Amino acid sequence: MRNPNIVILGAGYGGIMTAVKLQKSLGANDANVTLVNKHSYHYQTTWLHENAAGTLHHDRTRIQIKDVINTGKIKFVQDTVTEIKPEEKKVTLESGELAYDYLVIGLGFEAATFGISGLKENAFTIGSINSARLIRQHIEYNFAKYNNEAVKKQERLNIVVGGAGFTGIEFVGELANRIPELCKEYDIPPEDVRIINVEAAPTALPGFDPELVEYAMNSLEARGVEFKIGAMIKEVTENKLVFEKDGQREEIETNTVVWAAGVRGHSLVEKAGFEANRGRIPVQGDLRPAGYDDVFIVGDCALIINEETGRPYPPTAQIAIQQAEQTAANLTGLIKGEDHLEPFEPDLKGTVASLGHNDAIGVVFGDKKLFGWSATAMKKIIDNRYLLKLGGLPLLLKKGKLNFFY
Ligand SMILES: Cc1cc2nc3c(=O)[nH]c(=O)nc-3n(C[C@H](O)[C@H](O)[C@H](O)COP(=O)(O)OP(=O)(O)OC[C@H]3O[C@@H](n4cnc5c(N)ncnc54)[C@H](O)[C@@H]3O)c2cc1C
Repeated sequence: MRNPNIVILGAGYGGIMTAVKLQKSLGANDANVTLVNKHSYHYQTTWLHENAAGTLHHDRTRIQIKDVINTGKIKFVQDTVTEIKPEEKKVTLESGELAYDYLVIGLGFEAATFGISGLKENAFTIGSINSARLIRQHIEYNFAKYNNEAVKKQERLNIVVGGAGFTGIEFVGELANRIPELCKEYDIPPEDVRIINVEAAPTALPGFDPELVEYAMNSLEARGVEFKIGAMIKEVTENKLVFEKDGQREEIETNTVVWAAGVRGHSLVEKAGFEANRGRIPVQGDLRPAGYDDVFIVGDCALIINEETGRPYPPTAQIAIQQAEQTAANLTGLIKGEDHLEPFEPDLKGTVASLGHNDAIGVVFGDKKLFGWSATAMKKIIDNRYLLKLGGLPLLLKKGKLNFFY
């Protein structure tokens, strides 16, 4: 009898952790495990805002897949998935096709642009190493260009970030640290640069504890970030952003709009025919979509409901990693002949949002609030713990954030 084929799509938090766990729990004669990813590297999506602002080089964020995957046990295919065909149990790649007995989908997120005019065409998003590097270089180019034009263009120095949720706040925090350095480098007076955060909700960081929100806004405003709260973005063009606040239409001249206000699951997953809710696929307790016993969905493509609130859990790395661990355990059981799958129970350890260098806010261990350095240290502990889990001490020493005082 041939070995079953397990195919894992995407080497983000969900995909790579499934692979790392399976390489420990399955022997080479138990199953053929194939991991497919667009790039030769895994990246820590949760650090991309630092790469985009230019406060951390992207090589710190990416990890070569062959450094954490034993390719003697797991086959790694660097390719782009173009179609998932669950009825045929096949996946199409740019350069071929793969048949599976079990499929794990971990293709991550895409920006949700809610039909805002010009947003898709003119705004940047923080979604990969490539897109983060583009933002960094675009900002640097505009700073360099500013003093090379006869007529100075303010649009080059106005940076607008759409959304004051987790990603938007973390990004403006990094920008607030980076801009003074760029001003020195490009001979630009810091007071000429604006970082403007536009948020449609009545508060920044919706859902966060109000005391933490106030701390975050004070910290960021003290470093020059302007907030437009309750402001709905209506249009983005090549050199302006239009928003509406209190019934008034306002414009900001800018050629740098970074959209950080909404994500949805990867569109390939919806196109595969699974029932979708805003691009995410509702999954059962065992992380399989109803009616598909051979498909597991982990990370941002999966939609799971918090029974206490009746609302979906927000897509986070924390949940993606835990789902991967559960999926690997369930797949191992299935391959070894068990028919009972353990349901997934999120074990939320808390949330910490960085506000830039040495400042952060967070809630951990249930209701313990953290501010400033202690929150920053906690964030580094969370990041380092992940690296340890993924690639042990060597990876931690190579990529970890080990200086707790900087
Ligand atoms: C700036 C930022 C900060 C964040 N901070 C936090 C945080 O502090 N804590 C937290 O818990 N969460 C945070 N998040 C959310 C978190 O990063 C996501 O929830 C998490 O990355 C989801 O993991 P995933 O495995 O589903 O997908 P991803 O990590 O996005 O990985 C998807 C993978 O699939 C690959 N891929 C995509 N399309 C294809 C294709 N067609 N073919 C082949 N490969 C493909 C990609 O290259 C990537 O490797 C943050 C997100 C951002 C953007």
